[in-house]
Amino acid sequence: MRVTRWVGALAVLLASSVLCAAGQAPAPQAADNPVRTLVGRLDLERYKATIKGLTQFGDRRQGTDRNRAATDWIEAQLKSYGCANTERITYEYAPQPRTPVDGAIVISGAIAAGRGGGDAAAAAGGGGRAGASQGRGGGGGIPRKGFRGPTGVNNDPNRQPDEKLRALDMQPSTPGPRDQVFCTKIGTTRPDEMYIVGGHMDGLGYAEGANDNGSGTAIVMEMARIFSSPDVRTERSIRFILWNNEETGLNGARAYVDQRRELQGKEDPPGSGKYPEPRWLGMIQHDMMLYDHGMPREDGTLPREQRPEADVNVEFAGTSKMAAESQALAWQLKTANDRYATDFPVMVGNRMSNTDSVPFQDFVAAISLREAERGSQVGSGWDPHWHQPTDLYATFSDKDFRLGLNAAQTTLAAVAQLTGANIK
Ligand SMILES: [Zn+2]
Repeated sequence: MRVTRWVGALAVLLASSVLCAAGQAPAPQAADNPVRTLVGRLDLERYKATIKGLTQFGDRRQGTDRNRAATDWIEAQLKSYGCANTERITYEYAPQPRTPVDGAIVISGAIAAGRGGGDAAAAAGGGGRAGASQGRGGGGGIPRKGFRGPTGVNNDPNRQPDEKLRALDMQPSTPGPRDQVFCTKIGTTRPDEMYIVGGHMDGLGYAEGANDNGSGTAIVMEMARIFSSPDVRTERSIRFILWNNEETGLNGARAYVDQRRELQGKEDPPGSGKYPEPRWLGMIQHDMMLYDHGMPREDGTLPREQRPEADVNVEFAGTSKMAAESQALAWQLKTANDRYATDFPVMVGNRMSNTDSVPFQDFVAAISLREAERGSQVGSGWDPHWHQPTDLYATFSDKDFRLGLNAAQTTLAAVAQLTGANIK
């Protein structure tokens, strides 16, 4: 009897504790974190498919039909994502005529056009050990100690062995009007402030520009897709922009800064609640996101596979007027990567150069994301496909594409936090 009563009392106790637990609010789950949910909407196969879509336009060299067709395609994709206010800005590209030897360095059949501060401003050098006599690496960085590989721009279409691709890339560039496309996610409570997320869509080298810069363009496009989902709200605005003419000296980004810097934060028309150019809070550029196989070996060749310790290099310009603000933004990306990226860490450096964030760097926090440091590593030949006929979709493996996906996770998580993203 006594025993039975005890059992009965225990049963009541157990039942009440179960009820009590059921009546409480559930413990926070990963799914309740909007940043994690948004990062989870990035997908390796989708990222690869967007890069593949860009490669159908060959190297997308500025001032060609294939470049204009790529811009049209990107605009159609942004619209299909529901990204509001898809727009273009136009500018004139009129380079000074120059002789074939002006500023050019011949490297084993390839020509490095070292001018203008674009991505094509390459470091000269054959394979071998970097020495102090070689001075600064391409792009203003300290030359990496150790072995280096050749760098340069392929300017010979006949070095492209794929005949179909060679024909696609054959049309030369013509000076004249240019345009570039962007779309904007409008903030709900601070529509007058925005972060700019960029990548350049033009390329060089008579290949497919898969890594330079299909990989960065696709990050911007995938972020535009995810933030444009009807259930996503952000307090601040986000502009997704695909720069043109990066390779010729950042001309598209410079045109944007020249045309729009003075328009920041102005309501137009007055009282409309519309801000054609929200005030810039930060500019985050993505360029060459796939390949981090390490340092060239003594013979100038590189390991076949992505190195397991590959990283996403976030750089700011330590000598810019906004160095402190830019550095703070870089560390925010580092923190976002620590928490939300799945595979590869962020390394922060202070020598951002040769990228579309440069025209912004004295006005607003400006950073770049890359597969490697632009000056010391890319400039020392760590990417043998850079501006070469081998920059093809088929060159890269899933381990390479995954580095780009981790960069996307990093920027997406940071921007979601910085703009107060929420899911309805
Ligand atoms: Zn590039």
